Amino acid sequence: MADTGINTRIVHADRQFGVEHGGIRKPIHTSVQYGFDTVEELVGVFQGTVKGYNYARQGTPTTAALEARVNAMEGGQGTIVFATGMAAISAVFLTLLQAGDHLVVSQYVFGNTNSVLGTLRGLGVDVTLVDATQAAAVAAAIGPRTRMVFVETLANPGTQVADLEGIGQLCRERGLVYVVDNTVTSPALFQPRVVGASLVINSLTKTIGGHGTALGGAVTDTGLFDWTDYPHIFPAYRQGNPRQWGLTQVRKKGLRDMGASLSSEHAHAIGTGAETLALRQRQCSETALALAQFLAQHPAVAQVHYPFLPSHPQHERATRLFKAGSWLLSFELANADDCLPFINRLQIPVKGTGLADTRTLVIPVAHTIFWEAGPQVRAQMGIADGLIRLSVGLEDLADLQADLAQALG
Ligand SMILES: *Cc1c(COP(=O)(O)O)cnc(C)c1O
Repeated sequence: MADTGINTRIVHADRQFGVEHGGIRKPIHTSVQYGFDTVEELVGVFQGTVKGYNYARQGTPTTAALEARVNAMEGGQGTIVFATGMAAISAVFLTLLQAGDHLVVSQYVFGNTNSVLGTLRGLGVDVTLVDATQAAAVAAAIGPRTRMVFVETLANPGTQVADLEGIGQLCRERGLVYVVDNTVTSPALFQPRVVGASLVINSLTKTIGGHGTALGGAVTDTGLFDWTDYPHIFPAYRQGNPRQWGLTQVRKKGLRDMGASLSSEHAHAIGTGAETLALRQRQCSETALALAQFLAQHPAVAQVHYPFLPSHPQHERATRLFKAGSWLLSFELANADDCLPFINRLQIPVKGTGLADTRTLVIPVAHTIFWEAGPQVRAQMGIADGLIRLSVGLEDLADLQADLAQALG
């Protein structure tokens, strides 16, 4: 299936481990414990010489089917699913970094990812924030103790596009682990392995699950990073193919020990949502681009942030790398004081946080998600006081545009 299109790969990926009782969908396996006919098999599963399951914290046949599906979408060599996107991100940081290490992170990242960086600093990891839209800024921050670089493809809420290729080349030359959060674009629009990513993060809650009914996260190893000389791999995981060592450690330490495991029920809901990923992404992107164009020419709007608008600072890069612009759109009104009354006048979008739902969601960013961060962090992340974020859903374009038009007055 590796050479087939993304839709073909997604809808058939859960059958790759065999079909149970002829059912064409993977069942929801609810058992926490797994029994064996012989004690030798039980021992073999623990020692990794026999494939199987022993305790659901480390995975079930249902979560394994979702792992196979996300892995097929990302073109990876292995994927681990977690209870949330934040669990996946925290597992990568906490299992692969140690006190004394240096981590370089884009200054344009998801607010809770930014918050985790404070925790890492408390544990003795040195963190530098850089403007990742330019690889030169990343290069300038790299020092002798730098181990890892973390960026998002298309940043929320400002839609900045990282210099994904330039940073990939830099990480390859310097032997750094390159972590790319692909949540907003998703593998339907972009595969980070193409630019040399070592590990790919997806919040499955968002674009891949797509229906706002289940939390989940994933880490995919592209197989491009050679862990042979990476100093923090525990002796127990330095076995077999060195390209597997990193993910094995994230699975054992991050999933088994830290325990933020995805339930089979939620894995099933996410897997069902994932079947329409490419269709939803195409539709939402088309609607979001049309709304961005409409807002950009409206006199009551001061600025629109959308990567497929020619006015976007990384427009050339975005249109070259991504199949479409995705569902994320943000804008500022000419009269910033009208931000909250404007949102109250909207009839269709749901006033709420969250991203990539089937329903369009709207939120004033500085007043909510980035309130705790304070004005200094907001300024650094390019978040204006009146910035409004739209997560464009599956409603008809004409209805959304008419609603924006009436609310703009
Ligand atoms: C939402 C989000 C996360 C965290 O995912 P959860 O599933 O909500 O924990 C991480 N990165 C990005 C870019 C996100 O939008």
